[in-house]
Amino acid sequence: METNYETIVIGGGVVGSGIAYHLSERYKEGVLVLDKKYPMSGTSGSTQAWVWVHNKTPSWYAEFSMYSAELYPYLSKKIGDVEYKRTGGLSPFFNESDREKAQKLAESYRKIGIKIKVLSREEVLEKEPYMNPEVAGATYSSIDGNVNPFRLIDMYMRAAKRNGVRYSAYNKVTEIKKQDGTYLVVSDKGAFKCKNLILAGGTWSREIGDMIGVKIPVNQLRGQILVSEPLKPFLNFTISGLRQANNGEVLMGYSMEEAGFNRATTLDVIQETANMAVRYVPGLRKAKIVRAFSGIRAMPEDGFPILGKVPGHESLYVAATHSGVTLSPLIGTLITELITEGETSIPIERYSLSRFG
Ligand SMILES: Cc1cc2nc3c(=O)[nH]c(=O)nc-3n(C[C@H](O)[C@H](O)[C@H](O)COP(=O)(O)OP(=O)(O)OC[C@H]3O[C@@H](n4cnc5c(N)ncnc54)[C@H](O)[C@@H]3O)c2cc1C
Repeated sequence: METNYETIVIGGGVVGSGIAYHLSERYKEGVLVLDKKYPMSGTSGSTQAWVWVHNKTPSWYAEFSMYSAELYPYLSKKIGDVEYKRTGGLSPFFNESDREKAQKLAESYRKIGIKIKVLSREEVLEKEPYMNPEVAGATYSSIDGNVNPFRLIDMYMRAAKRNGVRYSAYNKVTEIKKQDGTYLVVSDKGAFKCKNLILAGGTWSREIGDMIGVKIPVNQLRGQILVSEPLKPFLNFTISGLRQANNGEVLMGYSMEEAGFNRATTLDVIQETANMAVRYVPGLRKAKIVRAFSGIRAMPEDGFPILGKVPGHESLYVAATHSGVTLSPLIGTLITELITEGETSIPIERYSLSRFG
């Protein structure tokens, strides 16, 4: 393997692979992606994979997510079928008192072009007949959907490789040094030099940043998901809490727990998740649960993406975020613009690392 690259991406998850692919479409210089395991071994291989917009708060973050969701149909055309389905998203509520809050959300989001409908009980049941008849209503937006995260990363990788990107798996980065205007990236399988270095290590961002004296305040939050046996298609929408995948499995869960890097699944969260799912869709009571898995969310300290140039470091970039599945097409596009044009078509100053002081 060559040792000099124009750009190295550390981390081949959905964020790093999305960047590598988008970069490779515009830029024929050498790009290398290094991953300490393989590109689906991190959080991207243990996710719900909703492409979710409609009730992200505050509204500027929902707007940012919307731009990314809008890129998905085009992305599928370019890299191949990633099983993206714009199902529409439903966020049910069970108390009439929540309707006013839902209406306020809809009103404020209309200004930024996100259409949210506040549905009556009857409208919810008409759209999603298996929803609990005790539901009071739901917010609904047609922009939400979901994707197959494994296909997404695989297709990003295949397309990136076709464009000349090199991948090196099971190759942990252990040291980063700045040398005469270039970065020396030391890994288990050798040392590589590059001009541009992109830190896309997800939930490991803090330790990768430490290698070059940059504080990247990303914490760990565990999420546990239950998976049902394959059921005949019966859910029409991505519901905030569960979705039915193409193969009929229902993926349930949205837990967020402080457990460091511990990827165990636990009985208490499994029970809470099952209760939530049955409350939303009572018919799931009869479904067999075939497995539970957990993933470690990369959670920036204030909850919002950390994106862009690392202040004070020439040609060093960071992309660390929760909701990386939703955001990967946009992040890939914007980091590519930054590297090739020096600016982005959508302002990202608000997501700069500099906000942490
Ligand atoms: C239960 C759960 C549900 C979720 N649901 C959703 C959802 O519905 N929608 C959504 O948009 N997002 C969701 N997320 C979040 C989303 O999955 C993540 O934001 C996304 O996968 C992060 O991608 P990433 O590429 O940054 O991280 P990762 O996929 O973790 O990739 C980082 C990579 O860096 C590599 N790496 C780390 N250290 C080194 C090193 N020293 N050297 C080399 N390589 C290194 C790792 O091996 C890893 O492959 C969910 C997460 C969880 C856990």
